[in-house]
Amino acid sequence: MAKKKDKKSKFAYEKKNGWTLIDKKREKSIFDFNKKYINYLSVCKTEREIIDNAVKEATKRGFKEGKGKKFYIVNRGKSACFVVIGKEPIENGVRIIGSHVDSPRLDLKQNPMYEDIELALLKTHYYGGIKKFQWVTIPLAIHGIIIKANGEKVNIKIGEDENDPIFTITDILPHLSYKVQGTKKIGEAIPGENLNILIGSIPVKDKDEKTKVKENLLSILNKKYGIIEEDFLSAEIEIVPAGKARDIGFDRSLVGGYGHDDRVCAFTSLEALFDAKTPAYTTIIYFSDKEEVGSDGNTGAKSKFIEDVILKTIENTGLKPTYALLRKVINNSQALSSDVNAAIDPTYKSVNEVNNACKLNYGIVLTKYTGSGGKYGANDCHAEFFGKMRIMFNKRKIVWQTGELGKVDEGGGGTIAKFLGEVGIETIDCGTPVLSMHSPLEVVSKFDVYETYRGYLAFIEEK
Ligand code: MN
Ligand code: MN
Repeated sequence: MAKKKDKKSKFAYEKKNGWTLIDKKREKSIFDFNKKYINYLSVCKTEREIIDNAVKEATKRGFKEGKGKKFYIVNRGKSACFVVIGKEPIENGVRIIGSHVDSPRLDLKQNPMYEDIELALLKTHYYGGIKKFQWVTIPLAIHGIIIKANGEKVNIKIGEDENDPIFTITDILPHLSYKVQGTKKIGEAIPGENLNILIGSIPVKDKDEKTKVKENLLSILNKKYGIIEEDFLSAEIEIVPAGKARDIGFDRSLVGGYGHDDRVCAFTSLEALFDAKTPAYTTIIYFSDKEEVGSDGNTGAKSKFIEDVILKTIENTGLKPTYALLRKVINNSQALSSDVNAAIDPTYKSVNEVNNACKLNYGIVLTKYTGSGGKYGANDCHAEFFGKMRIMFNKRKIVWQTGELGKVDEGGGGTIAKFLGEVGIETIDCGTPVLSMHSPLEVVSKFDVYETYRGYLAFIEEK
């Protein structure tokens, strides 16, 4: 029998838990960085709030709207690009880190308010892929904008301040739920039309009104915001989980919050741009909208917005933005589709294949392809670009891992990668592992958040 050796193989690939690889100093940087992230996550809950916040932060750092060497362009308040001109000539291409700033939520219907059994409620239509049972009996907040009859824009944000009221969707007690829920499939137990937001219960004293509670609430809303019921018809109002993001765990190693998907990538990519030395290539941090519903519309990644931004960037380097030059720049460009990936959940290991799924605390994830069953709908990154990223991350000692979206034939999903790929940009998916994705309380590891930031910093600074 051969003598047992415990020497490690020189040839085999081995992943290590990130926390075992770092010193005290790095640990402190990780916790400090995540404090900032938790604050950010607590105040930026909608695409508009994220864009407003990013513009404010960029302005503080000398970015100008549409002009100069550091500039930003906002697209209808819901998507935006932040650009820094780099050392390389623009025709050698740009570097893009593209995340999405919309998250799954409940949108109000256009005529939302009604009264039933002397309670007032708001009808919703869910946005993106949610498991409906996760959204009942939790504290909810109302965010959004209303355009009044006179054209005035009113911003609404109720349920986040400690002194604000919150809202909720009621659920039936277990004693009486056997027939209406208990015998049904989990996905059918709570139909979309049951996601109605409870907003009040005091009636007006006027005897003639049929819906006295609704009337009372309309009068409260009119006093507070100067709005009438018709104003809801054109409004854009989002219902999101109320309250702040928090540390999770006795060791405080994790962050629980709403919308890590994909604000974790938005936050880390913009921070990386702010902190980077002059980028090797001109760098564009792209915040896109509508990813959760297919990237459609003029603020989604299928739109021409990124091309408009590249044209403007060419112009700002002093060159003529011709179509030929635009195509040259695009074809020489590389992008990270910076989006989260599904970490293995110890309770639901069966949906993943452990050698290829990502894990919490194992660092930033490079995902060669998303899509589903036979790689349909995938931007399958070319080996050359993946190889380049691997070499770059290893050079910078970035803790990184590969990921895939579940076992083959288990399910799947997509990101904005294919829309960046479609125009000619070399693209790979690269982001943070998440547990409980698309739930009201998603979970990420602080180690991975910081490593995502370091990974994006490398992509901006390295050639
Ligand atoms: Mn996402
Ligand atoms: Mn998502």
